Amino acid sequence: MNPIPVNEILLDGNEKKYLLECIETGWISSEGPFVKQFEEQFAARVGRRYGIAVSNGSVALDTAVVALGIGRGDEVILPTFTIISCAAAIVRAGAIPVVVDCEPHTWNINISQIEEKITPRTKAIMVVHIYGLPVDMMPILSLASKYGLQIIEDAAEMHGQTCNGLPCGSFGAISTFSFYPNKHVTTGEGGMLVTDDEELAVRCRSLRNLCFQPQKRFFHEELGWNFRMTNLQAAVGVAQLERLEEFIARKRYIGQRYTELLKDIPFLELPIVKTDYAENIYWVYGVVLKDKVLFDAEEIMRRLAQYKIGTRPFFWCMHEQPVFQKMGLFNNVSCPIAERIARRGFYIPSGLAITDEQIKRVASCLREIFS
Ligand SMILES: *Cc1c(COP(=O)(O)O)cnc(C)c1O
Repeated sequence: MNPIPVNEILLDGNEKKYLLECIETGWISSEGPFVKQFEEQFAARVGRRYGIAVSNGSVALDTAVVALGIGRGDEVILPTFTIISCAAAIVRAGAIPVVVDCEPHTWNINISQIEEKITPRTKAIMVVHIYGLPVDMMPILSLASKYGLQIIEDAAEMHGQTCNGLPCGSFGAISTFSFYPNKHVTTGEGGMLVTDDEELAVRCRSLRNLCFQPQKRFFHEELGWNFRMTNLQAAVGVAQLERLEEFIARKRYIGQRYTELLKDIPFLELPIVKTDYAENIYWVYGVVLKDKVLFDAEEIMRRLAQYKIGTRPFFWCMHEQPVFQKMGLFNNVSCPIAERIARRGFYIPSGLAITDEQIKRVASCLREIFS
């Protein structure tokens, strides 16, 4: 039996054509025309005025935190159940990450626990939409305006998703995206910041480009990074973006098929299909082992590997990361819901190129393991 990788991508649109154009014109660096085109089209897609393309979704977060002036002593609230990029951006800026537990079924930040974490030092809430179902933004926006907090929206997993009909990536001061190959739109490696604030856009562009100054290029008032995206990456991005609607429809179909095939297995908690503010786009198809299952996600992933089925564990909580504990962060923090899903959750092959046959095989292997 052929292996089923956890993610397979589709590059059968205009990717090749646009890449050839880069090679034939000699425009391969970040100065090439696809970068600007990708920024404009991507920003427009989420209803933002400015898009700033960068080299990946992690550095988009670093850029966002610094562009907002968040630094030493400032606190930023974020979910503990997320990728390290979120907390790393806060810590590298010298600020303090303050984590919140997640909700048991949406796997997103528990909104009712945010307010108690707000202190006079809180500067921002970093909202992270998890695995295909967005965070309900309306109560977060009210909290932010009540306490005068900035919002950084990490929409890396939410290309094409909406919340109450508004695009994910349109909320808060700055939103960020990733174009890693498992995201709905990929550029191999890549990321984007989007914002409506001209001054923030200028700051992000400057930070991305070593804080070179237009009039006095090699004279620096501030430290930036080289986080530029190449024209080659943007060429792939423009081609991918042309197919976003199709990709979302395909992801929803994959999610729906898995749910149909797995819903009567009494040992699995499946992703929520929809809420009153959004319908799942299944960035990945995650499942959580119910408490009556006597083994954890590691064990079932090992068993699926014997059937040559690729999986990934869920995120590991930020407050349980040795790297942060060594820094003295998150002493005595407990987030039982996130700790549980981190141990009992995993995701199954759900990339855009997966076939119906593969979906069926994954489902029947899961069924066999529990029989
Ligand atoms: C993928 C991802 C990132 C990081 O993006 P990279 O491009 O891999 O650096 C950040 N946040 C979330 C929520 C992600 O899923």
